[in-house]
Amino acid sequence: MEITQVETHDQYLQESKPKLVVGIVVDQMRYDYLTRFYNKFGKGGFKRMIREGFNCKNNHFNYVPTYTGPGHASIYTGTTPKYHGIISNNWYDKAIKTMVYCVQDDSVQSVGTKDVSGKMSPHRMKTTTFGDENRLFTEMRGKTIGISIKDRAAILPAGHASNAAYWFLGKGEGHWISSTFYMDKLPKWVNDFNASGDAKSYLKVWNTLYDIKTYSESDDDLNSFEGGFVGKNTATFPYDLNALKNQNGGYDILKSTPYGNDLTADFAIAAIDGEHLGRDKITDILTVSFSCTDYVGHNFGVNSKEVEDTYLRLDLTLERLFNALDKKVGKGEYTVFLTADHGAVNVPSYLQSVKIPAGYLNSSEMWQKFSTFMKDTFKTTDLIENISNGQIFLNREKIKEMDLDLDDVEETIVDEIIKYDHIDKVYSGHTMSKTSFTTGIEELLQKGFSQKRSGDIIIVLDPGYVSYSKTGSTHGTGFDYDTHVPLLFFGKGISHGQTLQKTEITDIAPTISALLGISFPNGTIGKPLEFVLK
Ligand code: ZN
Ligand code: ZN
Ligand code: ZN
Repeated sequence: MEITQVETHDQYLQESKPKLVVGIVVDQMRYDYLTRFYNKFGKGGFKRMIREGFNCKNNHFNYVPTYTGPGHASIYTGTTPKYHGIISNNWYDKAIKTMVYCVQDDSVQSVGTKDVSGKMSPHRMKTTTFGDENRLFTEMRGKTIGISIKDRAAILPAGHASNAAYWFLGKGEGHWISSTFYMDKLPKWVNDFNASGDAKSYLKVWNTLYDIKTYSESDDDLNSFEGGFVGKNTATFPYDLNALKNQNGGYDILKSTPYGNDLTADFAIAAIDGEHLGRDKITDILTVSFSCTDYVGHNFGVNSKEVEDTYLRLDLTLERLFNALDKKVGKGEYTVFLTADHGAVNVPSYLQSVKIPAGYLNSSEMWQKFSTFMKDTFKTTDLIENISNGQIFLNREKIKEMDLDLDDVEETIVDEIIKYDHIDKVYSGHTMSKTSFTTGIEELLQKGFSQKRSGDIIIVLDPGYVSYSKTGSTHGTGFDYDTHVPLLFFGKGISHGQTLQKTEITDIAPTISALLGISFPNGTIGKPLEFVLK
């Protein structure tokens, strides 16, 4: 009797599997963009996901630093930098004593260009993604494809055993490219897409989608908190991209506009056709990251008309993607989740103008002061090997040579830096390794700390404080504005509902793995969200 039940259950699992899982990451999307712009969204994008699917309203990143590389790795591996090893976008590699980029790989070649932009792979990521696990589970019959304008946002989600990752080379080329890590040459459908002139068609005027007077959810178009484009005096609509392109990196200008998201969707839809994704019972995985939201946020800030317009347009882009999936894979035959790789802080100079504690750290001044302190205390500045990402890397050999105790040096530095303005917390690597934190920012720091790769001293700024230009938004902290991001699921196997229960970014990969009945990624620390699954 029991055996029959198990068989029935397994059969159910087999039949309830989606033909395609589409993972969508919206770069720098704060949770409140869903609610702030809700009344202006159409029926078929964000609102369709909420109407038909499940809305996790209290979803957070559970580590620091909240950057793009670690974010994408954590979403798809179900674990944090402590385990997957992507501790930042760029970091100081202690072994080879130089800065490295998270997906840079000098052992592979570019495919589709002679530019070095293709020399990339996921080799620095230590653990598997759910796409990898699906490849193993299906004996490599289920495909995994990663797509994004940003290389790291295409490569890390797709994982190690994926069929392909594609990213966009702007400059004078405007092409989707890859690397020899995946293939020797681009498939015909990619060459056809690159030759189609799709990218070029977006070098047009960017004006607001609706009458700008109706954009009541953002600040005036002309304000002092925005960056803008080289060659245009004010950060105000309209932006003539064709006229501005030569002074703004050629096709790279598309990255800072909503049109780059359209280009990404066009390419993703071409991939569904070109790779025959979701055509049979063996589940395929497509990861799509919309990166332009991040560039627009960095340039114009959280509260800008440009950000509002970018999200209203992205909503329609999502609708177009979902309609294509309905047509090509079939309504109810695929599963989608949507989240972000981090949030963003409101422009600190804007926050200051409304009396909220925020500001800017003058880091060069601070490190100058610190350098003087080190010289006075240890009679040398050679003990510091590198300072990056709010971490100090000490020169272990020099410490040994001078017969100093590493712990003593660390504690001396901690006691000094904590005295500086707008520094809220300072921890030593020793403390991170020897103490088990279970709450607060300390827990987030620890989950982002790799004993092997991270620095010896970790610094936390006050809330609202950044080391950044006085215009535009940025991210990277463990505060709520950076950790709180949307998490929506819809499609096959997904319940309808919503929750305010706290969910974490590392829960996504085990939830999708449970939906597919496959092994969890090998470093998973998250839990499957039972209430999301039917
Ligand atoms: Zn990002
Ligand atoms: Zn503006
Ligand atoms: Zn960013």
